Amino acid sequence: MKTAELFEQKTVFSLEVFPPRPDADERVIYQTLEQLSDIKPDFISVTYGAGGGKNGCKTIRIASDIQNRYGVESVAHMPCIGLTKAQAREILDRMQEAGIENILALRGDRTDGAEAGGDLRHASDLITFIRENYDFNIIAACYPEVHPESRNAVDDLKWLKYKVDCGADHLITQLFLDNDYFYDFREKTCIAGIDVPIEAGIMPVTNKRQIQRMVKLCGVELPKKFVRVLEKYEHNETALRDAGIAYAIDQITDLIAEGADGIHLYTMNDPYVAHRIFDAVQSLLSVSAAVTTG
Ligand code: FAD
Repeated sequence: MKTAELFEQKTVFSLEVFPPRPDADERVIYQTLEQLSDIKPDFISVTYGAGGGKNGCKTIRIASDIQNRYGVESVAHMPCIGLTKAQAREILDRMQEAGIENILALRGDRTDGAEAGGDLRHASDLITFIRENYDFNIIAACYPEVHPESRNAVDDLKWLKYKVDCGADHLITQLFLDNDYFYDFREKTCIAGIDVPIEAGIMPVTNKRQIQRMVKLCGVELPKKFVRVLEKYEHNETALRDAGIAYAIDQITDLIAEGADGIHLYTMNDPYVAHRIFDAVQSLLSVSAAVTTG
């Protein structure tokens, strides 16, 4: 099923996993998927990059197994930085052969030499290429706190609109810890004429190193309320995990009440955390679905 169709029926609840690193025991990801599939998420997306290998073999295999073994819709991420069109075609052909219908089309992060020799400079180039040659449902990334490389919010919004005009059917946001960024961003996308569903990306922060890395990479602001929690519990692993789960539940509760199209949970491959969050918000998702359909 194409993910864009899901939003017609309900508040979407989806999960994200990453493939195992080359030296990791593959059984672990399958145990993780088995537990995550119990949640019956609307889809599970699989990242492509660290651990996934340059050709995305693991991403494609895991995305295909999510559908075939666990009966859950899947989304394969695909960064295009440094790819020639011939290489992109090879990857897309393999995704098609594997029965994948949904692709999260990305540029990928700039690292030294990453762009050398590539034909596709931005996610919009990949989206255009897919639209011209394939029938995939296309998802794209967006940034409520503005992409770190953008000159300003207006420029970022202009390119986001362009990405949608090129053919993105649905958007997923970068993680954010202050919902007001999301509401402000949603209003601006509306004014800009961006009319595809936008899922809110939520990352339950359960350890300090993880959030420090994310802040550095994504330029996400840490609200005072969040910093207080982090400082209070940073030396107690269990308490910090519980506080991170509670914080994510609070964010999701507010987002559902404010009519967000969907929630995309960055699970960090932790089924325990995902289950606790889902159990706490499950009834809210079904109420909003009833309101939408009733
Ligand atoms: P783009 O849309 O190309 O935007 C990048 C920058 O260029 C922005 O500043 C934008 O404003 C500007 N821009 C966009 N189009 C144009 C244009 N045509 N001309 C000029 N400027 C333009 N990375 C991975 O490597 N693997 C993953 O699996 C992965 N999954 C992700 C999932 C989500 C939900 C999100 C939010 C991000 C993910 N990323 C992943 C990270 C992503 O690759 C980076 O954030 C990257 O820096 C930008 O990717 P993009 O697709 O948004 O790029």
